[in-house]
Amino acid sequence: MKLNELTIKQAQKGLKNGDFTSVELTKACLNNILAKNSGKDGINAVLTVCEKEALEQAKKADERIKKGEISELTGIPYLAKDNYLTKGIKTTAASKILENYIAPFSATVIKRFDEQGAVLLGKTNLDEFAHGSSTENSAFGTTKNPHDITRVPGGSSGGSAAAVAADMCIFALGTDTGGSIRQPAAFCGVVGLKPTYGRSSRFGLIAMTSSTDVPGPLAKTAEDCAIVQQIISGHDKNDFTTTEDLVDDYAEEIKKDIKGLKIGVPIEFFTKEINKEAEKLIRNTIDKLKKSGAKIIEISLPNTKYALPVYYIITPSEVSSNLGRFDGIRYGLSAEKDIKNLADIYFKTRGQGFGSEVKRRIMLGTYALSAGYYDAYYLQAQKVRTKIIEEFEQAFKQIDVLITPTTPDVAFKIGAKQDPLQMYLQDIFTPSPSLAGLPAISVPCGTVDKMPVGAQIIGKKFDESTVLRVADKI
Ligand code: GLN
Repeated sequence: MKLNELTIKQAQKGLKNGDFTSVELTKACLNNILAKNSGKDGINAVLTVCEKEALEQAKKADERIKKGEISELTGIPYLAKDNYLTKGIKTTAASKILENYIAPFSATVIKRFDEQGAVLLGKTNLDEFAHGSSTENSAFGTTKNPHDITRVPGGSSGGSAAAVAADMCIFALGTDTGGSIRQPAAFCGVVGLKPTYGRSSRFGLIAMTSSTDVPGPLAKTAEDCAIVQQIISGHDKNDFTTTEDLVDDYAEEIKKDIKGLKIGVPIEFFTKEINKEAEKLIRNTIDKLKKSGAKIIEISLPNTKYALPVYYIITPSEVSSNLGRFDGIRYGLSAEKDIKNLADIYFKTRGQGFGSEVKRRIMLGTYALSAGYYDAYYLQAQKVRTKIIEEFEQAFKQIDVLITPTTPDVAFKIGAKQDPLQMYLQDIFTPSPSLAGLPAISVPCGTVDKMPVGAQIIGKKFDESTVLRVADKI
């Protein structure tokens, strides 16, 4: 096995035993990025490689390890989605408007990794500002699915998922607003955890939809996700939505069996649109969990059908407000040609800097929030969101977790979904846990025509432990 193919758990062991150094491990990842990322058939998962900084961090980690000062992620190389601020390193959100933007400070999550002595290899591709499900909306080219380069890796954390699947790093960070960790994890055959809203700090993440955005890990196993989540969980004084509640010991919790655990199967997630072969794999997974001692209970969540329309009102609304800060004055690009007044700076910078999906969402959101339409769209969507939250709360009185498909089908071909509505429909199973702020994970459960299929486990608020425990048994 090559060093870059190791899991976090295996890499930790090797580093501790002195089987290899962090510099060797880091070089193995960097070389693999070099071999697979660029060129005609390149995966284009990584936008910025910070080779020099990574090797320096690895050297420092090796010194720490020699002194016995080893933490969970000391010397472990990772990639971060390019919407995490990283001090001194380009942070673009895959947008032209931030093409040359250097962040003045690092996100809390990145700082926590720095303290651990983890090694940042670089930044991964995404749909511009995390708006999308295929990474085709990146201003810097589409990422390709490592299982079939004619297909998308999913999105918006498609670069992170593809990088983990192609062994360019030991793990990666993504962000999830309505599915952006889980859906690409499913398409690329890796594990992706979206924690509870408020479990991990959003400070230093470029905001998309502030009421649902969360940072989270993409890794090769559920156990690795548990390791990363442990470090990024907890209160941050810079993010008032993070709770001070104690964080479970995920590594211990994950080891427990699932005997007697009640797993709900919501009938509304098994629609006729699902790929039949993929559905079989999900049903087999349910059987497997049953054999491990779980109790399977069929339930109904009738409001599921409203999640997607509600999500696509609330998200553009928050986007239209959050992206107001990119005005040509405070950050990144500032148009210089034919500027006669302040309005010209706004119009020209935003006109040139934003891609078409970002513009579409700003327009939709501005419309939904405008006087006369606010009550009909935004307010109504928030009311239905409350109904969705209540429905989950009721369901969790009788079950411990839910299992659903992560996506209706396997990864689609690049260019196949030109119609934005067709693209939005891809997100059918992932937005409801986001709207309700619940933890959810996608775990590979087999392949259809060599393309990976993911099962989604959704849990109660702040019960990442049970979600990870079930995921570990799949
Ligand atoms: N695919 C969804 C969207 O386009 C989710 C994005 C996300 O989670 N960042 O909005």
